[in-house]
Amino acid sequence: SPEVKETRIEAINKDVVHQICSGQVVLSLATAVKELVENSLDAGATVIEVRMKEYGSELVEVIDNGAGIEEENFQALTLKHHTSKLREFSDLVSVKTFGFRGEALSSLCALSEMAVVTRHSSASCGTRLEFDCRGQIIKKQPCARQVGTTVSLQNLFGSLPVRQKEFHRNLRREFAKMTQLLYAYCLVCIGIKISCTNRTKKGGHTPVLSTQGSETVRDNIACIFGSKQVQSLMEFLQKMPDETALQEYGICEGSASTEYPFQLEGCISSCAHGQGRSAADRQFFYVNSRPCEPTKVIKIINEVYHQFNQHQYPFVFLNLKMACNTVDVNVTPDKRKVFMDHEKLLIATFKASLFHLYETIPSTFNFQNIS
Ligand code: ADP
Ligand code: MG
Repeated sequence: SPEVKETRIEAINKDVVHQICSGQVVLSLATAVKELVENSLDAGATVIEVRMKEYGSELVEVIDNGAGIEEENFQALTLKHHTSKLREFSDLVSVKTFGFRGEALSSLCALSEMAVVTRHSSASCGTRLEFDCRGQIIKKQPCARQVGTTVSLQNLFGSLPVRQKEFHRNLRREFAKMTQLLYAYCLVCIGIKISCTNRTKKGGHTPVLSTQGSETVRDNIACIFGSKQVQSLMEFLQKMPDETALQEYGICEGSASTEYPFQLEGCISSCAHGQGRSAADRQFFYVNSRPCEPTKVIKIINEVYHQFNQHQYPFVFLNLKMACNTVDVNVTPDKRKVFMDHEKLLIATFKASLFHLYETIPSTFNFQNIS
């Protein structure tokens, strides 16, 4: 018979809980960088610089020219579930910022050695803050700084030895994932310059990516992937579903078209100009401009494309716009997974318009042909 064990239920020590949970909020180098870049975007930055040392294993630093942080907020900055972005649960449907859970910086403190240099427009100089693993300020000194914020992380995952070893073993791959995620922000952010560099002892200083603060997504695509990539893309815009799609979905004409709950916009490869590599390589999806992974939509796009081009995958930039109260991004801490109302309708109508697009446009279509 099993041994009788201690069965009293007790609360786990607060610091232990924090350590346990933080590793689930920030899973990887990519999530760490994503959280910092989102914070810079939320702070209204127009220039964001990501600096890495040794692919992020030594240093991850994000420098912005955003609003900066006011002195009264210095300590709350790194406290769990402290945020300036959400007050009531009901705010969740209308929240426009990337962040709202107030757990990224507190988690990063538990997972790395974090320092912040910031200056708010109301301050006469900058302040450098260092934090311990519980998010407490351990050092604070004035310094020179323009308005904006720099967050730096050293020894990422130092508190989770197994994860850190895994990270260091797969450094290049983790770095590539991070770059891929940064691309998603680079493409969708209009009027914002984003750059990333990496410094290694062997290879010196390497630029990884940079955008110019362009006014259009197409210019951003050209900046990141080259103008040839842009020329192979077709514009995609769907405001109303076409009739076939509605019929397929069993909706009578007219009944839904006046209140069709989505607007889709973006661009996709023509049949003749797909990508040779894997599907995920150059496919970027957004809900209301927030990068995410709507898995069913991704599947449909690739399925339809394969009917016209069996050997390649399409480049995709797709922004699904829908009313805030019909979508839930608060499913996982990284907010990559989304639940949406009317998903079936979306998939059906989207599929129909994609077929329509590829059937009506010649397979050799190329933007050069029309411009
Ligand atoms: P969240 O983004 O969900 O609010 P975070 O832990 O990422 O939670 O950040 C906590 C708070 O710190 C934010 O609400 C914001 O007020 C402030 N903050 C974080 N990064 C920056 C930044 N780069 N510039 C200005 N304020 C920042
Ligand atoms: Mg945040």
